[in-house]
Amino acid sequence: MNARAGVVYLVGAGPGDQGLMTARSLDLIASANAIYYDRLIPPGALDGAREDAELVYVGKQPGVPSVPQEEIGARLIEAALTGKSVVRLKGGDPFVFGRGGEEGEALRAAGVEFEVVPGVTAGVAASAYAGIPVTHRDDASAVAFVTGHEDPEKEETALDWEALARFPGTLVLYMGVKRLGENAAALIEAGRDPDEPAAAVERGTMAGQRTVTATLATLAAEVEREGIGAPAIIVIGEVVGRRELLS
Ligand code: SAH
Repeated sequence: MNARAGVVYLVGAGPGDQGLMTARSLDLIASANAIYYDRLIPPGALDGAREDAELVYVGKQPGVPSVPQEEIGARLIEAALTGKSVVRLKGGDPFVFGRGGEEGEALRAAGVEFEVVPGVTAGVAASAYAGIPVTHRDDASAVAFVTGHEDPEKEETALDWEALARFPGTLVLYMGVKRLGENAAALIEAGRDPDEPAAAVERGTMAGQRTVTATLATLAAEVEREGIGAPAIIVIGEVVGRRELLS
């Protein structure tokens, strides 16, 4: 199904491996008049775009001034109101730490029709490519997706470390490298087992994927020693031990 005029599609492009893009995302990319894309989209994701499509980079880069969120919303609205079919392409899944919810709300408030197209989220895919199943019959019957880096503009923290320490299952931290030491210490302080297996998966599903494993108490030091940087997910849980059999 082709992208329709006047509609904005909030599309997930998956975690980096082009083969993990959905059939629907490829159809929409191939037919849209305009594509507003983020930094963390798979290399080559836009290869199938129309020759006359407008390709607009609106990604954020650490330390570089970026297009403010409100302006992204305003640009999407304007493009749709001028009759374009618009793809808003994001890494992973648009509704998992992707601000897709906010963009959908802005579109709705402006009376612009939109559709969300889920993508394969990094927390699941990077773990899988590293041989870590986020749930397992013997080890984890629940998984929590947690942000490791809260927006400094947000007034109060939404993270309840005590609850996360008690959480009976796997914790997957997005944006978790920079504050790994602090966050791991907060979890241990709140009662989580310091010896619990933990892993960091850098550039998951992409060329050059790297994984380091350690324990909750030692992962931050290991990550620093190995020079692991963003994008990476942190996995905390017994399931990390399954990697020996599954990776
Ligand atoms: N919407 C995205 C997440 C965006 S937040 C999704 O559903 O996957 C950005 C964070 O996602 C990064 O800081 C990192 O923690 C994680 N991430 C994205 N791509 C990744 C990849 N290829 N490997 C490991 N982590 C990744």
